[in-house]
Amino acid sequence: MEVQHTVPAYSMLASKLRLPRGSSTETSLAGVTAAALFAAAGAGGGGRDKTTEALNESSYAHASDAMPRAATQLRAAGVAANRGAAVRTSGARRSVSSGGSSCGVNGVTPTSSFGNGMRGTGAVKTCMPMRASVGMPSVGHRMRGSTSDALCEPDQGLSERVKVLVRVRPAVSQTERGGGRCVDVSGPARLVLHRVDAPVPVSEFGFDTVLPPTCSQCDVFNAAVKDVVDDTLQGYNGTIMAYGQTGAGKTYTLGNTEPDAIGMIPRAVAEIFMQAKLDPLHSYHVTMSYIQIYMEMIQDLLCPENDNLQLREDASNGVHLPGVKEVAVSSLAECLHHLELGDRNRIFAFTHLNAHSSRSHAVVLLTVVKSRRLLTHAEKEAVQLAEKEGVVTHKVKVGKLYLVDLAGSERLKKSRSVGVRASEAISINKSLSTLGMCISARAADGSHVPFRDSKLTRLLQESLGGNAKTTLVVCVADTQLHAEETLQSLTFGSRAMCVRNRPVINERVDVVTLDDELIGRLEGERSRADAGGGDGRSDGGGAFLQLESEHAQLAAQLAEERERHEAVVERLRAEAAAETAEAQASLEQSEASLGEVRGLMSEQASALASLAVERDELLASNRALAQTHLTQVSELSSRVQALLAQHASMAAARHAEEAVTAALREDAATLRVQLEAAVAERDVALSQRDAARADAAEAAAAAARLGG
Ligand code: ADP
Ligand code: MG
Repeated sequence: MEVQHTVPAYSMLASKLRLPRGSSTETSLAGVTAAALFAAAGAGGGGRDKTTEALNESSYAHASDAMPRAATQLRAAGVAANRGAAVRTSGARRSVSSGGSSCGVNGVTPTSSFGNGMRGTGAVKTCMPMRASVGMPSVGHRMRGSTSDALCEPDQGLSERVKVLVRVRPAVSQTERGGGRCVDVSGPARLVLHRVDAPVPVSEFGFDTVLPPTCSQCDVFNAAVKDVVDDTLQGYNGTIMAYGQTGAGKTYTLGNTEPDAIGMIPRAVAEIFMQAKLDPLHSYHVTMSYIQIYMEMIQDLLCPENDNLQLREDASNGVHLPGVKEVAVSSLAECLHHLELGDRNRIFAFTHLNAHSSRSHAVVLLTVVKSRRLLTHAEKEAVQLAEKEGVVTHKVKVGKLYLVDLAGSERLKKSRSVGVRASEAISINKSLSTLGMCISARAADGSHVPFRDSKLTRLLQESLGGNAKTTLVVCVADTQLHAEETLQSLTFGSRAMCVRNRPVINERVDVVTLDDELIGRLEGERSRADAGGGDGRSDGGGAFLQLESEHAQLAAQLAEERERHEAVVERLRAEAAAETAEAQASLEQSEASLGEVRGLMSEQASALASLAVERDELLASNRALAQTHLTQVSELSSRVQALLAQHASMAAARHAEEAVTAALREDAATLRVQLEAAVAERDVALSQRDAARADAAEAAAAAARLGG
């Protein structure tokens, strides 16, 4: 059987087919080796070949236990040999944690075999308090009972819970190993987080599945992705989202293409083509888009010129990206080629914008349009029985699968980002915190969910509480160094477990195929009648009657479809009207607040104007004062100049005076010396005279005595 890829009418239909449909019988076909699928894979690059080869070598031991009846019918009809078939009811709940009976690309490893990867936790468990309420688990509180029962209500009717799988990655560096471990996987759906030196050092969490550090990519596929891919092929929208801090293993889990650890995106694509190959009754048209959201800009990685795509929403397409490049892919190799191309463009964009891969959210969107193959009359009769049981339907089903590699939820303080890096981190944190707020609002059944606050949440709107089956893969690192981030990621995952989606099969009657078949049969009958004469006429009459009844059935189906369509349009109209009314109310409220703000602004403007007048007056008086001061200062300055000149001349005169005084002093000193010398001489002369006088008197006395 060949997979039919070129169905132009379907791409048009694909954009229109978002009509919900009640439960119906679904078909899944599986059962041979992957080699058969990949033998037809196109040429690719070296890495691509290795990845394709690695997937080729793996054996698809698909479960056929639940599907032997339909397979037998088909085999007996000679339509398909060596094929298995399954009949599954859409309402059936899938079990994510059980590991299931089907396997991924590398064989089966049931998740129930995942044991405790590290130290025992008995003591911890007994000392932790039991939490009274269900819902979001909080630090230091143990969950009640089994995970899904304990955390949120079980799936009911059309609504089902977001599934959460935690993947614990091993420490990958010496530093991380040196820091010690922090996660203890205590069961297939439980883990205990140890935080050294934290106020609450032990926290226990329950999820749908917890995979230990030793788990393989295949385990992740089986536990988180396989069911979503199956559902996508049945016309449901599916989302696989990887969340965690930078370096926790999101890209490794989703996008890795190394042959020994192939990620979920190549595995999902391989699974889609495998199942398409194994289905003899339907043709599959697969398209893919690859975008990234970097600092609130949506960039098309398959067409880099589209570097700021805008999100739009309308009743028929929901939230979508007009202008995004959608490439048709018909093999894993082709898909890998486009992924490589996208990654290259991503690197270019990063160099251009100075960013690296963990700084943007990357989204791969696979759209699968599944429609009935045009069957010959013989084939049609052969599958009649199966058709009656709902294995084959006249429906076109469109399933969209989003694979989302979220940017790292790092802490700005810890990463010490600055400049562009800080802006990136702020933008990432904003979109992730909006994601968290949307999840909280959805989990709490809040009426307002802030989807519009970020491009990421707007794009993923349907995946968070809408028409989609969503699985969140929380990646955490088993090292004490990142224990705080691990706690934050686990808390986020716990909250996500309370979000309920309402997935419906996106399908419509494939009128074109049905008409072609009926016309073919009509012509066959007519030529048989022409060739066979009377007997043929009676046969032909019977056939015509059958055709007529088929036409009637078709008309009834169409009427039913139309009714359903009208109901959906009505519902959408009502929703749109409610939204419009809400928007109108909020607009009116905004206008009222705007009026208030305007009033305040005009008051402030007049206050500002009077302040400006005051300011001008003050400025003028200040200017006049300044002028007066200036004049006074210049007068003072000239007076000071004159005084200074006067002072200088006085100083010069004083200086001259001092010189004269000094000279006079010198002269006086000389005269004093001379005077003192004269006085001394006079004193000597006087003493000599007195001595002479005394001598004379003595002589006179002596003479008198002598004379007397
Ligand atoms: P993220 O995308 O979350 O920032 P990556 O996927 O780039 O992180 O992983 C960071 C590093 O850790 C890579 O070198 C990757 O190979 C390694 N790694 C991640 N998960 C695992 C794992 N489960 N086993 C081994 N190595 C892993
Ligand atoms: Mg990454």
